[in-house]
Amino acid sequence: MEPLTFQAAEERSVKLREELNQYAYEYYVQDQPTVEDFVYDKKYQELVAIEMEYPDLITPESPTQRVGGKVLEGFEKVVHDVPLYSLNDVFSKEELIAFDERVKKAVGHPVSYCCELKIDGLSISLKYEEGLFIQGATRGDGTVGENITENLKTVKSIPLRLKEPLTIEVRGECYMPKASFIKLNQQREEEGKEVFANPRNAAAGSLRQLDTKIAAKRNLSTFLYTLADFGPLESTTQDHALTEMSRLGFRTNPEHRVCKTIDEVWEYIEAFHKTRDQLPYEIDGIVIKVNEFDVQDDLGFTVKAPRWATAYKFPPEEAQTLLLDIDWTVGRTGVLTPTAIMEPVRLAGTTVGRASLHNSDYIEKKDIRLNDTILVYKAGDIIPEVAQVILEKRPANSISYPIPSHCPICNSELVHLDEEVALRCINPKCPAQIKEGLNHFVSRNAMNIDGLGPRVLAQMFDKGLVADVADLYALDKEQLLTLEKIKDKSAENILTAIAASKENSVERLIFGLGIRHVGAKAAGILAEHFGSLTALSQGTKEEIVSLNTIGETIADSVVTYFENEEVHELMRELADRGVNLKYKGLRSSQLAEVDSPFKNKTVVLTGKLIDYTREEAKEKIQTLGGKVTGSVSKKTDIVVAGEEAGSKLSKAQSLGVEIWNEKQMIQAIEESQTD
Ligand code: NAD
Repeated sequence: MEPLTFQAAEERSVKLREELNQYAYEYYVQDQPTVEDFVYDKKYQELVAIEMEYPDLITPESPTQRVGGKVLEGFEKVVHDVPLYSLNDVFSKEELIAFDERVKKAVGHPVSYCCELKIDGLSISLKYEEGLFIQGATRGDGTVGENITENLKTVKSIPLRLKEPLTIEVRGECYMPKASFIKLNQQREEEGKEVFANPRNAAAGSLRQLDTKIAAKRNLSTFLYTLADFGPLESTTQDHALTEMSRLGFRTNPEHRVCKTIDEVWEYIEAFHKTRDQLPYEIDGIVIKVNEFDVQDDLGFTVKAPRWATAYKFPPEEAQTLLLDIDWTVGRTGVLTPTAIMEPVRLAGTTVGRASLHNSDYIEKKDIRLNDTILVYKAGDIIPEVAQVILEKRPANSISYPIPSHCPICNSELVHLDEEVALRCINPKCPAQIKEGLNHFVSRNAMNIDGLGPRVLAQMFDKGLVADVADLYALDKEQLLTLEKIKDKSAENILTAIAASKENSVERLIFGLGIRHVGAKAAGILAEHFGSLTALSQGTKEEIVSLNTIGETIADSVVTYFENEEVHELMRELADRGVNLKYKGLRSSQLAEVDSPFKNKTVVLTGKLIDYTREEAKEKIQTLGGKVTGSVSKKTDIVVAGEEAGSKLSKAQSLGVEIWNEKQMIQAIEESQTD
């Protein structure tokens, strides 16, 4: 490219600075970026190039001169004793080699590098005094951050007390695992809320909330990677510092590796570029750090970033294709979700023909139209999304996309509630909502009825066999045999599964009814407290709010739900058809009377069980006063290891947790029951 004249460069740099500062504000302050990272990165690199050519154009507010974040109002400020820097980026092998050359030239000898995954989360800094966690802060603008100690205390992987009583400061990344991110966005879509652009913004948006309950619910995790204040610890390399942090109880990323040459670094980068999709968390590149601390000291820092490290950013996984149509689906609560139907295109190793458009506001904001050429990308290797329209390729006769005004399923008028970004069908008799409601009712965490997939349920509904969930309990074999692909044996299996679900403890039913905002966990708490659906239906808002972790939104929603006379009719039908409405677990008031080896014990089930299903074993143990959790930790009292038990068993062994086989578990259950 021709170098710009000074005047052109000046004009361009003003424009770029304005744009980049606006993007940075949306990204760091609002946690809602409007452009993808690669768009930001491209413009940033352009500005760097101009400023290199014309250093006179550098201004103090240029994003190249300072760390991007700002401190939000409402949080106490924390002045960092040691500033938190950003990282310089490289985007190609050539740039990486140039980085290595610069380092070697500056220090006069080859160096080894510690390569780490670049976790796409939010920088945090944690202070410990005599082993106790006393303060957690965001990076902020690098010098001043936000005090988010209380929110960080809800993150389970952050030790509140270290294994040694040390006074130190550590830094790292707080992130949201991919699975939690997908779940959170699905939930937000269903609630008509704006979705988070990526796991990084979701993590940041969760930690920078004044209400700690929000962070607690978001299932965040951490990887620590910097010892900012060593205290009495002695470490001479990054690699060793990571080992020390892990020893003290911090979660460090196991994938780091020391590389002796830049070729080895490149191999590491390529390996993770290929396999990043399989990681349970999002990475956006690789961080390459000079391993020896004394060499790091020799190299020092620029105004913004260390000279001894660089971040290799993975190329964006994007592609252009044609938007053929937009498909609208109606969810359980009536929210309409649009999906782009596209000309199939290769993206990050797979062919995709559909991409998420989130909600009607998103389509309007980005002015997405049929027959547009669109840029799709994989948001955190997860779900393909439509990033933007390539306006230059828009056909001349293009017209704005007509956002539907009526439900595509029941044709009733759609509403756009003020505080929502989505359209909603509010007809409670909308077949799409009822079908989704049936799917939810039979799902695993609800009534757990096998054999009733979405197709079978849709047929049942369309043929008039079931109009609501209670009708499932009045089905007979002849009716089932009228459905496509249902033969004798499968009809019997379905009836057996339906009959078995009548015996479920009531929390499954409470969850299955699909009361807004009541998830499986809240359903469990409500069931335990009230003891039955009938008692819950008479509960007052005050009583519900008084329960631990149940907030006003849930309480309001429960009370409103039971104000509906049709709900009481449904409850009567369920009871008449033999569905259990009572809580079968142990209520806290009864716990004192129980005598069993599981009482007040935390139990983990792992491997294959033969005589019980996991669910059955879990329910029995809970009935006997035990708590069943999913992962082994120091707090686990008993691990029941079935056949082919794997990593949980080894972890239990290494922690010295008591291990039982299935036989021992059954014996303990039976003995407790006969007592
Ligand atoms: P950065 O995210 O590129 O790199 C620095 C950060 O990497 C550190 O602060 C740390 O939090 C993180 N990190 C993760 N793993 C690490 C590890 N193992 N070791 C050390 N650090 C690790 O820099 P930045 O200044 O936070 O942000 C700039 C980037 O943010 C841009 O490159 C761009 O992609 C993105 N951004 C996007 C927008 C947008 O509108 N989309 C706006 C501003 C910034």
